[in-house]
Amino acid sequence: MFRLIVVLIWSVAGGLSAESERTFPPGFKFGVGTSSYQIEGGWNADGKGESIWDRFTHQHPEKIEDRSTGDTACDSYHQWRRDVEMIKELGVDIYRFSIAWARIMPSGLSNRVNEKGIQYYNDLIDGLLQAGITPAVTLYHFDLPQRLEDLGGWLTPDIVQHFLDYANVAFENYGDRVQMWTTFNEPWYICESSYGTDGLAPALNFPGVADYVCGHNILKAHAEVVHLYREKYQTQQKGIIGISLDARWVEPASDSFDDLEASEWSLQFNMGWFGHPIFSAEGDYPQIMKDRIGNLSAEQGFKRSRLPSFTEAEIERIKGTSDFFGLNTYTLRLASKNDEQNSANFEIPSNDHDAGAVLTIDPEWPSADTDWIKIVPSGLKNLLNWVKKEFDNSPTWVTENGVGTAVGTVDLQRVQYYNGYLNAVLDAMEDGCDVRGYMAWSLMDNFEWRAGYTSKFGLFHVDFNDPNRKRYGKMSAKVYKRIIETRKIDESYLPQPDVVISEARIHSSFSLSIILGLFAVFLLSCLIFKV
Ligand code: BGC
Repeated sequence: MFRLIVVLIWSVAGGLSAESERTFPPGFKFGVGTSSYQIEGGWNADGKGESIWDRFTHQHPEKIEDRSTGDTACDSYHQWRRDVEMIKELGVDIYRFSIAWARIMPSGLSNRVNEKGIQYYNDLIDGLLQAGITPAVTLYHFDLPQRLEDLGGWLTPDIVQHFLDYANVAFENYGDRVQMWTTFNEPWYICESSYGTDGLAPALNFPGVADYVCGHNILKAHAEVVHLYREKYQTQQKGIIGISLDARWVEPASDSFDDLEASEWSLQFNMGWFGHPIFSAEGDYPQIMKDRIGNLSAEQGFKRSRLPSFTEAEIERIKGTSDFFGLNTYTLRLASKNDEQNSANFEIPSNDHDAGAVLTIDPEWPSADTDWIKIVPSGLKNLLNWVKKEFDNSPTWVTENGVGTAVGTVDLQRVQYYNGYLNAVLDAMEDGCDVRGYMAWSLMDNFEWRAGYTSKFGLFHVDFNDPNRKRYGKMSAKVYKRIIETRKIDESYLPQPDVVISEARIHSSFSLSIILGLFAVFLLSCLIFKV
């Protein structure tokens, strides 16, 4: 209720700015995304193997904010037909989802393919196509088969061949209908959080060493899969293949030379780490990474750089292996130079310390309910411009963008977020950035990794107390739908959700209508009596 009142006050207090005349061009595509572990549930259904997230949540409930698991999640393993309806309701062109490797290959290895798992994604893909929606498939979104982790996961070079075998099964089974493939979702986050720190499963926490080994293997695995697709499938199947890199814009804390450099270094150690080897003309890791990690490693007593090096042949093999630049972004940070090599701010060695930048938050930035997200849309515009400058204006897709809010369907914060960030996409396109599409994250509230179910990113609310995980459209779903229909952003459009849900209470839309009615009477009286 409180949120609803805020919406009403906001609309009177000047939020009703005029509809913008700027439009998204005809070829520009809209989409919405999810990932397997976050929504599917059915964690051991029909022969699915165990993933690192099954193991992690079962063995370490204390690591998840609400001690929850993705065992059932949104139950999309059974409720996928409803998902397709919701996607259709939004009017998007594309649905981006990921395959759970262990669902189609239970141990991750090539000896056994699980037909029921294959069938699940076949049904989903066919359902999407029947509804006129293009499926965009991510091969890896954090849920490695546990048996492969037992072999060393992304830290062992053998993983490249296993990933290739898996991708081959996916292309063979689904490539006739899938027109957009992403090899990895967010390699930086995978390597930093799964191996560098203890943020994501398997939470190895080996900073400054394991993260770089992980990155090295991921880059090779990505390149091999793209070569496989290009050589064996692309001509016939006619899809595109790429990678989604995660980034936060890094604003210099001041216009001093040091802070400008800190901002640039931080971007290079984040997006450049994976972007430079694939998208730059010269390939390989960014020079600043090679220099800083090499020098710091020597100072720290390592016999060689903690950043592994590629052979000339490997550099060539990785270069150019993407048909598009996928950008995932949510927020931004401020950077200043880290002069104190031994500052207590850093775990040493670590990617953070190697990057030489201290990242902070400007207290003036508006915060989302999920408080690591500060809402400053110009960050997205700046990132897109950075990609343009750094990677020769590669065709870019915003493959994830969204905000975590409190529970409920009256999600004004998400409405404002999408209006602002989509305006920033238009700004970037006016700057000449080659942005081809935008995919909102996420279709529905889901299992938000370490935050469990406490943070909500969905355009649809999910009732996690209902065994069928009933879904309800939020205000933001209607706003996103309208933007897609009209191809314009109208900040004054504040539709009511069909069902008002706030803080776990479901009200009928009837009570909302009464409030809106009373409010309209109040506004009208103000106008008539010129109060
Ligand atoms: C991940 C999503 C996650 C989102 C919000 C992204 O980095 O790809 O899986 O839900 O962030 O935290």
